Amino acid sequence: MGAVIRKILVVDNNATIVELLGSHLAAAGFEVVKAYDGLQALDRLVESQPLPDAIILDLIMPRLDGQRLTRFLKQDELYGHIPIVILTGIAREDEGQFKNFGADAYIAKGRVDDTMAHVLETFAWLERRSGPAERRETILGIEKLFPREMTRELLHMKGHLDTMLAMMAEGMLETDADDRILFANPAACALLGAEDRHLFGRTLPDVLDTPAVAGYLAEAPCGAGRPYGTLRIERGGRTLQLCATRLEERDNLCGAIVLLQDVTAAERRERTLRDLMEAIVQSAPVGLCLLGPAGKVLAANPAFASILRLPDSRVALGADLAASLTEAGLEPTDLIPLSGAPRDGEARPVEFTTTSYPERVVLTVSATDVPTAEGPRLLLLVEDVTEKAAMERDLRRVNEELAKASRAKSTFLSMVSHELRTPLSVVRGYLSLILENKIGPEPERVRDALRVADKRARHLQHLIEELLDLSRIETGRLVLRREPVDVRKHVLETVEMFRDEAERKAITVSVTMAEDLPAAMADHDKVHQILTNFLSNAVKFTGDGGRVEIGGRSAGPWLEYWVTDTGIGIPPDKVERIFEKFYQVESSDKRLYPGTGLGLAIVRMITAALGGKVRVQSEVGKGSTFTLTLPRAEAAAEPEAEPAAGPAAEAAPLPRRLRVLAVDDDADTLSMIRLLLPEDRFELIEARDAFEGLRAVHAAVPDVVLADALLPIMSGLELCRIVKTHPALGATRVIILSAAAQEDEIRSGFQVGADDYLVKPFSPQDLLERLGRIKA
Ligand code: ADP
Repeated sequence: MGAVIRKILVVDNNATIVELLGSHLAAAGFEVVKAYDGLQALDRLVESQPLPDAIILDLIMPRLDGQRLTRFLKQDELYGHIPIVILTGIAREDEGQFKNFGADAYIAKGRVDDTMAHVLETFAWLERRSGPAERRETILGIEKLFPREMTRELLHMKGHLDTMLAMMAEGMLETDADDRILFANPAACALLGAEDRHLFGRTLPDVLDTPAVAGYLAEAPCGAGRPYGTLRIERGGRTLQLCATRLEERDNLCGAIVLLQDVTAAERRERTLRDLMEAIVQSAPVGLCLLGPAGKVLAANPAFASILRLPDSRVALGADLAASLTEAGLEPTDLIPLSGAPRDGEARPVEFTTTSYPERVVLTVSATDVPTAEGPRLLLLVEDVTEKAAMERDLRRVNEELAKASRAKSTFLSMVSHELRTPLSVVRGYLSLILENKIGPEPERVRDALRVADKRARHLQHLIEELLDLSRIETGRLVLRREPVDVRKHVLETVEMFRDEAERKAITVSVTMAEDLPAAMADHDKVHQILTNFLSNAVKFTGDGGRVEIGGRSAGPWLEYWVTDTGIGIPPDKVERIFEKFYQVESSDKRLYPGTGLGLAIVRMITAALGGKVRVQSEVGKGSTFTLTLPRAEAAAEPEAEPAAGPAAEAAPLPRRLRVLAVDDDADTLSMIRLLLPEDRFELIEARDAFEGLRAVHAAVPDVVLADALLPIMSGLELCRIVKTHPALGATRVIILSAAAQEDEIRSGFQVGADDYLVKPFSPQDLLERLGRIKA
């Protein structure tokens, strides 16, 4: 049997029904407690002492409806036993669907007297029933209802919404104006770690144990569609994010809808990303600076300060960047584009020096407008390109030099080929005339032709030697001898060389040089080469009837030699240029003066290597003076006991015929040597390879072996090594003959013990001179 019903809680948002029903019940002797919505009903229950014996509850109410309230109350230990009678305006068709959600009985709304009768009948049934489990399966008074389409629609929608809320992964909460929880979907319950009946009626800030939530809810915007701010809170090692919108009813705030999400994973990802970004920004080699309104620094990495050479390693946050730059001696406008300046992210070069860093710094600066939620920001990106700029400058310079060298090389090649072809064609022309017997039978004419060919062949040789010289000097393989040199003797020889040419142009050549002028410390061949260049130029660039004077004097530790001419002279702006490789005042295209433009370049390099100097004084139309300065030889005062070299040696009488073994695989070279060596002074043995040579060496023990370096099977160098290491051949001298004029070749010749080295092609004079140096 149920308890006797005396005290009743009547709940309906329709105040009229509450009042009417309430007064009828009061009149019938019941104690009536009234509530006008589900939440008030809860308050009344809490306040009521004793508890009501029954609750009459409207089904559809705002905020907390009858169904939810029933579900909550029926699960509650304190209130679960109180019978609940639902007062429903439900349509007949929906009867089956809605009557069984846990209430004890159902009464259809109708006229108040009908309703009152049904209430009393229901109370009587409740008092009679055997226990709380027994429920009324029918809705009293339903026969009086008629279908209402709108109600049905709304109920359908409600059903769908309930399903959605139940299925949502995100937590969804509804609170009242005092932040009390009215509803929590299963996801919200799971996130808050409590069943909904334990959440119900408690405030959300209290449940979350975070006072900041109250402030956040108070500030939340009203109505859907507004941008929602979010609040993140830490709870039990997880990060929960709240997103609230407040509900309004007739301009009064009546609660809030709160979306609750577990963003722990997202937060961790964001933090990792933030940490990564921070690490990248901090260690980036480019300087980054974010400026807020009025140019205040919001963020800057260490590279920014160091690239700008600012005295502090960091730019203070909140500092005025322009002021900091000005302080450091920098022009801020270069870095911070002021209004109107481009902020397009394009890198622009800026060069500067600062007070603390006077070296020139080259940067690229780019400025970009960055829109953010808090308004536009300016991102500055600076990159130090000082080194890059220097490298580019160097590269440009090297490129220019290369281009210049390449141009010079092309000029040189075309000139060299021209210079080589001209004499070669003359030589070949004359030789073919002789071979074809077109010169005529007179030996004098043949000799004249040969003389011309010989002269041109010499010129060719000279050119090749100059080129080789140049290559040797430029590749650092120039080998210089240091020996006392009687320069006067070389002067006289050189004058002799140009006698014919000077006579042809009626040029007077005179030498004024004291005979006892001390010797210079130099290299015979090179002194000869320098003087030849001076003199050949002097004769070449002096007109008919001019004068050439050669002089020399001692000047302290130095010796000075000069060659003066009354020739065409050199314009002042060209005076230094004539020492450049390939440079000629009159380009050789004009063919006024033959030459290569190499001579003086070689002279200057050789002179420098000898520790001397060369200079020129000149006046256009009047003439030029070339001066060579060389150091004095220490033993300069000693009389020349015996000339070390020179044609004079050639004339020295030899006590007996010199036995010469010539080893060469080229028959023409052998026959030329045979022609060159007069029989009265030389005994010649010939061999075509090194083995034949070796046999001859042992058989005849020659005074001199002339060995071609490049012999088949066994080289001349190898032959030389064997000869020079053989105990029985201690007196035999070896002269290597080779077309390889490179210094390392010559050096390897001397390494195997050669006494001398003769570069092909060589003149008869060369050969005789070398042989003359060998003491028989
Ligand atoms: P090359 O004589 O083969 O042209 P050099 O290097 O010896 O080469 O001389 C370079 C240039 O210097 C000559 O072409 C000429 O223009 C100028 N030069 C040299 N010596 C004289 C001189 N004595 N008088 C006038 N010009 C000279």
